[in-house]
Amino acid sequence: MSSDATTPVLRNCIRLPLPEDELLEVTAKAKDYAIMHGAAMRSKTAFSQDSLNFAPFVLVPSSFPRKEFEKAVALQPIINRLMHNVAHDEEFITTTLAETIKVDEFTANLFNIYRKVLAHGFTQAYSIGLLRSDYMAHVSEGCAIKQVEINTVASSFAGIATQLVPQQKFVLSELGHADKLHNMPNNNALAGLCDGMVKAWDIYAKPKAVILFIIEDVSYNICDQRFHEFYIRETYPHIKVLRRTLTEVHREGKLGQAKELLLGSQEVAVIYFRAGYEPGHYHSQSEWDARYLMETSLAIKCPSIHYHLAGTKKVQQALAQPAVLERFINDPEEIKAVGKIFTGLYSLDDNEAGNATYEMALRTPERFVLKPQREGGGNNVYGVDIPDALKRMSRVERSAWILMDLIHPPLTKGYMVRPGGDMPPQIVDMVSELGIFGVVIGDAEHIVHNYQAGHMLRTKLSTANEGGVAAGLGALDSPYLIDSDDDEDLDQI
Ligand code: ADP
Ligand code: MG
Repeated sequence: MSSDATTPVLRNCIRLPLPEDELLEVTAKAKDYAIMHGAAMRSKTAFSQDSLNFAPFVLVPSSFPRKEFEKAVALQPIINRLMHNVAHDEEFITTTLAETIKVDEFTANLFNIYRKVLAHGFTQAYSIGLLRSDYMAHVSEGCAIKQVEINTVASSFAGIATQLVPQQKFVLSELGHADKLHNMPNNNALAGLCDGMVKAWDIYAKPKAVILFIIEDVSYNICDQRFHEFYIRETYPHIKVLRRTLTEVHREGKLGQAKELLLGSQEVAVIYFRAGYEPGHYHSQSEWDARYLMETSLAIKCPSIHYHLAGTKKVQQALAQPAVLERFINDPEEIKAVGKIFTGLYSLDDNEAGNATYEMALRTPERFVLKPQREGGGNNVYGVDIPDALKRMSRVERSAWILMDLIHPPLTKGYMVRPGGDMPPQIVDMVSELGIFGVVIGDAEHIVHNYQAGHMLRTKLSTANEGGVAAGLGALDSPYLIDSDDDEDLDQI
């Protein structure tokens, strides 16, 4: 979908294909390396709490333009600050989501919590954002990065991505290319995010209080959550992590005298949401009540409700409009730099601009992707499917969606390895999406911590619209940085 025969191919870090015997041997080692280092997931088809499959991975790291990687890393603290400021701008959030919440029940439920919290005043002034800004290189602009989306809730894969760099370094070394390891940037995503949670825990300043992870009923991506839990306990032995579903919080949770969140006798300092970002996580009003209870508590939330709303696709679309960034960023150079990562994002509100977007989408649907206010993959509508989808909606219903220019990333060629897949794996055409993690902590007046915290690369078949790793079309990967003027590795298959 995102490529055709004319799409440029980035040069590989090593010459492919590999001889079959070498490929078989190194793939088998890489699978074991992944399982033994926790680059793994629970199986969806043969779920068992007693076993893990390796997470789908790309055997050798996929190339990514160095200049663009470095740009994304350098931008992250600016994006952190931007999102922090957006989250604290009540008027902007309220006006931006006004049309959307008329028709999108899920966003409306989140917004209602926000409204109630605003009415009573925030019990906890501080928030922690563990963000991930996702990009693809766009071939028609010289492979300049364009933002796919910004995640402010449950930004995942920091744990596994951290493990994948040594895994792919191991593979490259096994294949006799240890000289190339320096082109794989180190990844401190796990430590970066967890240290962020602990900084929030420090702000809460109660030595016995715990960190609470809000989890799904069944966690397939269990390693990526346990890595965080284990890192925290190993690095900070005095801090306990609890895991609870929204349903369990509803059953067990209550507020103390000072509105502290109590689970039994345990006080919660920080809440880290790895669930709660999609309607399916709320089985009944009980889960919404639990979310509200947590939101009104003294615990520091990751994300707080305003951060969650700031991460909606609608807010992303509003931010990409001319002159809006000036409201949140002072420095003109920074405004320019952030503006450049936005691709066309268009409102479908029930007004003149929205109607013009609608007409444009019907005329040239192949240029676009249509997105609802959802997270977690599998919700978007692509290209030629857009007209039918739009025609089925009323004018009001359309305002729950946004339209976005399709980004066309360059191709890479490589081996995608997945549980139950072909052995040896075949060479396939792939495209990559880079995620840069960021940590920001502060209140409405001040930011007290703001840093970039590692990265992840997710690579999918070039024919796939989306590359959900668990869904089967995507795989975890790490960037191998290449320079445009560097032709030492020009070998192609
Ligand atoms: P979600 O919140 O479900 O992750 P995304 O906006 O990240 O929603 O979209 C899911 C996937 O769809 C992305 O990971 C990417 O593969 C693809 N995608 C989204 N937007 C674009 C775009 N503008 N151009 C090309 N692919 C896109
Ligand atoms: Mg996404």
